[in-house]
This record gives sequence, C-alpha cells and structure tokens, in this order.
Amino acid sequence: MASSRQQPQTNPKPTEDFIYTDLYNAICERHLPPETKLGEAMLAEHYGVSRTIIRQVLLRLSSDRLVKLEPRRGAFIARLTLEEARQIYEAWRLVEAAIIQDVTVSISPQEIAELHSLVAAERVACDEQNYPLLLRLSIQFHMQLADLCSNQFLGRFLKELIPQTSLAYFYEIHKMPICTKDEHREILECVIAGNAEAAVNAARQHLDGIEAALNARATLDRQISLADKLNAGILPQRKGHGDDF
Ligand SMILES: [Zn+2]
Repeated sequence: MASSRQQPQTNPKPTEDFIYTDLYNAICERHLPPETKLGEAMLAEHYGVSRTIIRQVLLRLSSDRLVKLEPRRGAFIARLTLEEARQIYEAWRLVEAAIIQDVTVSISPQEIAELHSLVAAERVACDEQNYPLLLRLSIQFHMQLADLCSNQFLGRFLKELIPQTSLAYFYEIHKMPICTKDEHREILECVIAGNAEAAVNAARQHLDGIEAALNARATLDRQISLADKLNAGILPQRKGHGDDF
C-alpha cells in the first residue's frame, strides 16, 4: 500500500504522488465510501494544484480499480458487487497460500523483526480503537508478506488485489474492522516456526472469517459528500502537509 503522506518540506505545492497517496490511504481507511463523487475542481482547490494534476491522480486510482471514471459524469469511488467482493476474497486466499509457502522457507530475521513490530503496532491501534490506523496496518501486514515473496508476479498480483477489499466494507455486518491482531500474529508465528501448512491454514481461516462477515442485504449508508469530508478535515489542508496523521 502507499506508505507515506509526507510532503517534502522544500516544495510547498503537493506533488501528484502526494495527492495520490493521500486519496489512496483515505479510500483504504474507508473515509471515502463507494459512489462518493470526486470533483476535480473541488480537489484542485483543496490541494492548491491544477485540475490536470488531479486528473492524473484520478487516472492512477482508476487503474488501481479504486475509482471509476464515467464519461460526462466524472470520477467516483468504485463500488463492488457482493459477488465481486467474494471473488476477490477467493483469489486472495489462493494467492496468499502460495505466498506464505514461499515466504516460510525464505524469511530472514530482519524481515521477521519488521513483521513483529507491525503486529505490535496493530495491537496498540486495536486497543486504542484507532480503526483507520488499524485498517491501514492490517492491509500493510498482507502487503509486506507479498513483498517478501520471491515470485514478484505473485506478490504484485496480491498487492493489486488487497486494496480493492477496502471497497467491500459496506457489505460487512459490523461496518467496522474486526480486530485481527491475534490472527496476524498466529500466521506470523507459524511462518517463523517454518510450518507452512499451519501458516496457510491460519491465513485461510483469517480470510474466511472476514468474508463470512459480508452481508448480502447490506445497503450503502447515507451518502457523505466529498465536501463534507473535506470540511470535516478527513483529508489534510495544504498548510498541514508537513504533518503525519
Ligand atoms: Zn489480515
């Protein structure tokens, strides 16, 4: 997943990469629900950049399948059907199993330490009920596993797939993240023990549990506009770009 929102201090104008990362993270943290209209002019004004830059960002998000571009209507946060959401989880389970088998035989002590600190950060975020952070860290756990895979195509495939699950959240019964801290830890412990079969089983159960929470009768919550989100300070103001949040 996109990793940083830090804007270089020397450049007062946000770069295309910064705005892309900012919107990407906002989608993964579920601040911008499916069907939210992403007005070019509004975003250009918010970030203090040209509409051309915003258009480039929206194009990149559309190639990630997180945004849909509709002729004459503009850009919207993409929406998945329930069947598409289930297909994504099915693909995720298959690819993750292959990745975990690969990583179990090749993981280094340094990589184990990094995953341990990520799982520890998840625990803190969960205990503090910081759900946006927990969501970001949860996705990062799977993204880091994908990065460790020696088959770059498998890793890349999973990294393209996972962010799209952020669009499936409104099918979830609880409409908020399930604390997965111990499940990630369990997967990690099996990987460290070199037990690929147990690690794959733990990952399968973990993903089964998330998919089981999808609800066929779900409807979108009241539509919150981009303007509401900007006014509520969900996306940073230009002057705040040096801050992490
Ligand atoms: Zn997970």
